[in-house]
Amino acid sequence: MTIRPIIEVPDKRLKTVSQPVAEVTDDTRALMDDMLDTMYDANGIGLAAIQVGVADRVIVMDISRREQWHGATEDDPEEADTGETGPRFFVNPEIVWVSEETRNYQEGCLSVPGFYDDVARPAQCRVAFLDYDGKAQELACDGLLATCIQHEMDHLEGIVFLDRLSRLKRQMVLKKIAKAERDTARAE
Ligand SMILES: [Zn+2]
Repeated sequence: MTIRPIIEVPDKRLKTVSQPVAEVTDDTRALMDDMLDTMYDANGIGLAAIQVGVADRVIVMDISRREQWHGATEDDPEEADTGETGPRFFVNPEIVWVSEETRNYQEGCLSVPGFYDDVARPAQCRVAFLDYDGKAQELACDGLLATCIQHEMDHLEGIVFLDRLSRLKRQMVLKKIAKAERDTARAE
């Protein structure tokens, strides 16, 4: 297993629409293993393959690690115990149902380091996908799980959560990131 570099905005590769995986093979599993290592190393709770430059419809998640994630606020009792343990793998995920009820959650993204903001999404959803072994599964998602899977599935369509904020806010963030990069370049 290898930790791969994570692509950050404004890298154009993040706008790629990822392709369905024809079959879950050992190569797919090797990719998922690498993605999981990469995600844990970066203290993330979800990662889409395009974030490591692979345009396959593959997602890894582990929301039991949420305490390491900024978006997890301790004063949110609703999220106190998700009962979630361990990694989840999603190949070719499809949302088959979403609730009318929406929910605001403060999201962050390993491809948008250091920035968090509220995004409104359906509060619950059902997702059909192939698991680590290539078996067809369906999962009912609520709370952080629903938010996270929808955030990751956006990546498969070339969408980052910044795209769901106002244009003004998005431009402000991109400017900040560009400035931070210039400052780093100058310091090196
Ligand atoms: Zn993300």
